Amino acid sequence: MKPIIGIDLGGTKIEGVILESRQNPNVLARKRIPTESNRGYQPVMNNIAALVKDLEDSTQLKFENIGIGTPGAKEPKTGLMKNCNTTCLNGNPLEEDLSKLLHKEVKIANDANCFAMAEYHLGVVKQSYPEAKVAFGVIMGTGVGGGLVIDGKTIHGLHGIGGEWGHIRLVENGNKCYCGKKGCVETYISGTFLESFYQKETGIKRRLNEIFDKSNLEKDEVAMKTKERLLDYYGLAMSYLINIVDPDIIVIGGGVGNVDFLYDEGREYILKYIFNKELNTPIVKPSLGDSAGVFGAAFL
Ligand SMILES: [Zn+2]
Repeated sequence: MKPIIGIDLGGTKIEGVILESRQNPNVLARKRIPTESNRGYQPVMNNIAALVKDLEDSTQLKFENIGIGTPGAKEPKTGLMKNCNTTCLNGNPLEEDLSKLLHKEVKIANDANCFAMAEYHLGVVKQSYPEAKVAFGVIMGTGVGGGLVIDGKTIHGLHGIGGEWGHIRLVENGNKCYCGKKGCVETYISGTFLESFYQKETGIKRRLNEIFDKSNLEKDEVAMKTKERLLDYYGLAMSYLINIVDPDIIVIGGGVGNVDFLYDEGREYILKYIFNKELNTPIVKPSLGDSAGVFGAAFL
């Protein structure tokens, strides 16, 4: 059995892990460092290289292949990165550059796809819904992403944007998105935008969990409005997903994914919009917690 190594390149942190093998995903080494994306493309690559060296040194293992989960996607035709909210990556041949820098074969995949793969092969899908063939992994965090897994394989799609549910337009002439379009799902149900909605209405900066704190919800009108707004947009966005893919299971990760009312009240809002009289889709929280992204990367 061969150990595997994976890196999760996030906007604020880079996490790396070495697992015993695909069959026994025990953690042999694990480390997190800051991304420092404000310093630009080359420093981010150097940070990745330093992290990989650290992990290899600490386990005295050497790898020929490495999987890397990133924001955005690799354009299949050119190999250039695109759609990354860590914008210094965009337009660069990250896979090729890292492969030269690390002297390894590098495989890059979108972080939401890594999340979906990990939950499918190791996490909640495998543990509790092993009969599921079509799984959709959603990340609702600072941004909104999605990954589609069918029969154990990620659907990357012709343009490398398979599963990019976060950039469906929800609202005509809506909020401006980093992607250059307006009204994207991400700009209505991500943590960032929910927090800024609350701040705009009240002048008070609060974290999402504070806004949705039960005691707050009972007396804070704007918190109630933020909740109602999240539920309605979530229901609408989910209905698009279910109408097209109709997956056997949906797993929701990310900070907003921790909000409990999405799993009971949220279902009623989805039901309001889908092309069906009942909603039988299991919609569940992930079981790997923060580790899903980096485990999924190792599985690449
Ligand atoms: Zn967008």
